[in-house]
Amino acid sequence: MGKENSFSKLERVLELEYRRGCKNDAVIGGLERFLENWKRSIGAGEKEKADQVLSFLSDYSRLDGEQRVKHLAKALRLIKGYTGQNRGGTRKEAPREKPPAPTRKPPSPPPTRRYSSGLDAPIIKLPGIGDVRVRQMKRLGVETIKDLLFLYPRRYIDYSKITTISRLHPGDEVSVIGKIVSAASRKSRRGQDMYHVILSDGTGNIQATWFNQPFLARTLKVGSRVVLSGKVELYMGRLVMNSPEWEFMSEDLVHTGRLVPVYPLTAGLTARWMRQLQKHVVDAWAPKIQDYLPEDVRSRVGLYPLPEAIKEIHFPSSQASLEKARQRLAFDELFLIQLGMQQKRREWKRGKAVPIEPSKQVLDLFIGRLPFDLTGAQRRALSQILADMAKPVPMSRLLQGDVGSGKTVVAAAAMWATAASGLQSALMAPTEILAEQHFRSIGSMFGADVSASDDGKTPPIVEGAVELPDRSRNIRIARLTGSMTASEKRRVYKALSSGEVDIVIGTHALIQKDVDFARLGLVVVDEQHRFGVEQRAMLRGKGESPHMLVMSATPIPRTLALTLYGDLDLSVIDEMPPGRKPIRTKWLYPRERERAYSFLRKQVEQGHQAFIIYPLVEESKSLDLKAATTEYQRLQQEVFPDLKLGLVHGKMRGKDKDAVMRAFQAGEIDVLVATAVVEVGVDVPNATVMIIEGADRFGLAQLHQFRGRVGRGGDEAYCILISSSETDQGLKRLQIMEQTQNGFVLAEKDLEMRGPGEFFGTRQSGLPDLRMARLSDRRLLEVARQEAARLFAEDPDLTRPEHQLLALRLKEFWKPGSGDLS
Ligand code: ADP
Ligand code: MG
Repeated sequence: MGKENSFSKLERVLELEYRRGCKNDAVIGGLERFLENWKRSIGAGEKEKADQVLSFLSDYSRLDGEQRVKHLAKALRLIKGYTGQNRGGTRKEAPREKPPAPTRKPPSPPPTRRYSSGLDAPIIKLPGIGDVRVRQMKRLGVETIKDLLFLYPRRYIDYSKITTISRLHPGDEVSVIGKIVSAASRKSRRGQDMYHVILSDGTGNIQATWFNQPFLARTLKVGSRVVLSGKVELYMGRLVMNSPEWEFMSEDLVHTGRLVPVYPLTAGLTARWMRQLQKHVVDAWAPKIQDYLPEDVRSRVGLYPLPEAIKEIHFPSSQASLEKARQRLAFDELFLIQLGMQQKRREWKRGKAVPIEPSKQVLDLFIGRLPFDLTGAQRRALSQILADMAKPVPMSRLLQGDVGSGKTVVAAAAMWATAASGLQSALMAPTEILAEQHFRSIGSMFGADVSASDDGKTPPIVEGAVELPDRSRNIRIARLTGSMTASEKRRVYKALSSGEVDIVIGTHALIQKDVDFARLGLVVVDEQHRFGVEQRAMLRGKGESPHMLVMSATPIPRTLALTLYGDLDLSVIDEMPPGRKPIRTKWLYPRERERAYSFLRKQVEQGHQAFIIYPLVEESKSLDLKAATTEYQRLQQEVFPDLKLGLVHGKMRGKDKDAVMRAFQAGEIDVLVATAVVEVGVDVPNATVMIIEGADRFGLAQLHQFRGRVGRGGDEAYCILISSSETDQGLKRLQIMEQTQNGFVLAEKDLEMRGPGEFFGTRQSGLPDLRMARLSDRRLLEVARQEAARLFAEDPDLTRPEHQLLALRLKEFWKPGSGDLS
């Protein structure tokens, strides 16, 4: 007997045993007897190989079903290694039940500069993918093999616990391995196709049933060895599984017996199909991904190599390795964000700015006339800003401070410094109301008359009471918003381009093409998260490298701020103006609403005003709008017929909204009923009560913003959260709101509880998607930042050969909609 024949014969027998369900009945007398004889037929040269194979099969009869499958599979794999080489001289794939892996078409040799060599092939090249599939996958954003590899599972089902049937309990979510001992198709009373099988593993039986899957009768036949994963239930005293996941037993499970990935799908795609496809793609292609992360970074941080991370994120071998994979992919996102930010920052800093260096006397002309002293935090922020502006390099600074911390006056001081140097500034706010408010408050800081005329409107250009040094005229301030008349706008355009006006405060209207500045020296963007990176850039583009200050009331933790706004320097106002009392916050159930109403009434009787906020969620704008409108009518007619109520909502025309807001600010309205539009910065010092309906539907950061609308006038203020939330998260949020006033603490909690996208209310515009990074992972944020800084210091343009792949990846990562900061 030749040696090839020996192993081939063994292979045949073992395969038969495997196919027959590992019952030790493939050869008469049992496998062990056969193996003893077989071993004797082996030539001396093959002894070692034979022993290796046999080592898997010793004591075969005493193994349980599951172990037999495993050991047999291992032995077979080893044998195929020997026999395969000898068959017709070519290496052949082991026989499979699954469609062949896409390795049949070897990828063309990688062009040297592509990090994704071959992976850029369209998915139509994959077996089993035709035009229809291509179209369906496109809806998921998948066009290439690489896209597939980077289409991560949304979640995983843990079917990794494999048990014997005898040890099953109702309620378990487990996997069992066994043989189908009987099978039957039936019709249910309601005419559904049902397919029942009985699975046995030697320790017991369990029935599994599927509905309306007639093909299963042709697939799952008596004698098949299968794995079932799902929930075990008790039905008429027997253990059953309803519609479990199933697959034929093999050493490489996809749908069962493991952490099973669950992918995003679109119409026409099934979870199984997608999983199967991913399995093939990951097996065949993940090893071919070239790791773009420099080796030293990877080893310092202790991260998986990219191919391994991709493999484990799709088909994790354990919870621990899944977490490692996630870490690696999350690190990459944070690292690439950082690198991109650094580059943008450097681009920006390359510009030449006009230095702005006001003397102390000049500054005091403004600060000295304020009705209050600046807080320590305000002074600190201002001096950081002034230090930046004194340089010939454009400032790019983020001014962060809780609602009501007094950012506006700091910005105004910077604008004053700019005007005193003979340059213009522009402040852009996200809404008309806010722009108008800034116009009025900043105008009055400079002593301008910003009182509205009879039509309720402030003039488009006002003159302050402060004289500009060396220019024998007073400072002039303009406003520019979309709702202004064409002639008003023209007047402002002209004043800006001639340099007649020093400060302009407005909305998006500021970035229209008609707007042209004589000498723009400073741009300020308020509530910057409401603007895209592109809009910021457009405002900057109105001047030649002006200094830029962006302001945010979303108090995000420092590490996070440094990551998300790594292109900006950071100043924080972490101190409230004196005299602010904490806003008493109380959470009530809806049935206690009457209490809230009578409390509100008392406050109004004392001459105060109140807000009532209704939630407005993007997807159901019209529904919520209706709710706010009908509630408004109910409140006015039934609850507060004697009070004056006003309504503002997002669907109103800017003009109408403004009219109501103005009336509220002027004290003509007692109670303002509003949808989420009041979120941003409206200042009504006389308002002392804020009632928030459906409070659990808002995030912490947002609730905190609402709450900041009251208590601005030094009177005791109250925030009442009304919610019947049953979810843990909702409850927790409300409790935290009751307990803490500190925006930074709230933001940290919010981050812990929510994803970054939700955290900002809307997705950060202009930033690449973070799919893996959890922004609450402080350590990873910090490490990614350090590594990015280190790399940037060494090779800022990523021109070294070992950084070429990274350079390509960085470009790709920042490509979609990243805008242009520079
Ligand atoms: P925000 O940071 O939310 O934009 P604002 O700039 O609107 O806050 O300031 C909130 C209120 O606090 C304004 O009415 C402002 O006049 C007042 N304020 C600002 N700074 C001080 C201060 N140092 N002392 C007292 N009040 C101040
Ligand atoms: Mg503000």
